[in-house]
Amino acid sequence: MDAARADGRRAGAGWRGSDGALGTLCRSVRDVVLPRGCAGCDAPDAVLCDDCRALFDRCYGRELQGSLSDMAYAAAVYQGVVRRCILDWKDHDDAELDGPFARILVATLGRSGLMAAMAAMPTMPACGPDLRRPVLVVPAPSSPASMRRRGRRHLMPLVRALSEALCEAGIPSRTSLALVSTAGGGRSVQQISAAQRAQRIGGHIAVAPGASLQGAPVLLVDDIITTGSTLRQCTDVLRHAGALPVGGLALAQAVASHRGDCEGDEGDVGEAGGDGGSPSRNA
Ligand SMILES: [Zn+2]
Repeated sequence: MDAARADGRRAGAGWRGSDGALGTLCRSVRDVVLPRGCAGCDAPDAVLCDDCRALFDRCYGRELQGSLSDMAYAAAVYQGVVRRCILDWKDHDDAELDGPFARILVATLGRSGLMAAMAAMPTMPACGPDLRRPVLVVPAPSSPASMRRRGRRHLMPLVRALSEALCEAGIPSRTSLALVSTAGGGRSVQQISAAQRAQRIGGHIAVAPGASLQGAPVLLVDDIITTGSTLRQCTDVLRHAGALPVGGLALAQAVASHRGDCEGDEGDVGEAGGDGGSPSRNA
């Protein structure tokens, strides 16, 4: 039953890419025939049960050089149930996890101290005395091929929730697709130029054509931190464009940080990702 539900969800996800309307219909039928269970443990009638959600209650910090806080934070370690939930969401079209994952990242933002850092930004010397630019919440870009496969920008619901949380805390904010991936083919002339700049910095990430980033504080968001190289590249590209990357947030990181978590508890820190799966970084 549990396996059938999971397989049913994945089968429904498979229809999505080829035909949006058919995919939607198939998912509706699937949801009636195969009522969903928790993405982590298949407990009935839950998108993410309390026990599985609690695995995302942490706040692991790791170094993000070049950002104002020098830190990126993750809510969980990418292994076991956490890995299963994220893959279900990211690669098997379980969009019902958007809500729970958005709330998890908002909680991580609160735990991380990044919120406090951003509240203090207008007085930071690097920003200049008059800077009141809204904080841009920017997703790490997926490659065009990954976006085509998923049929959506899966990080956007999380990015929107973070921006709303900042606004509610009195910190002006908006979402921004300021970064693009230059991996793969089919580039416009503008993108080729962006790709050339990105290659000089050392990666496949570039500023989106037309993005205005000079002096803009930026909160970076990704799903999984594996080696940290994606967030580092994002940070480098943003700084090169005159932005002020504040730090990063992710749902999970592949290896628990040596710097411990925000709550000062390293008790369950260990190696992650040993179950043979791919790191699943945006290819
Ligand atoms: Zn569960």
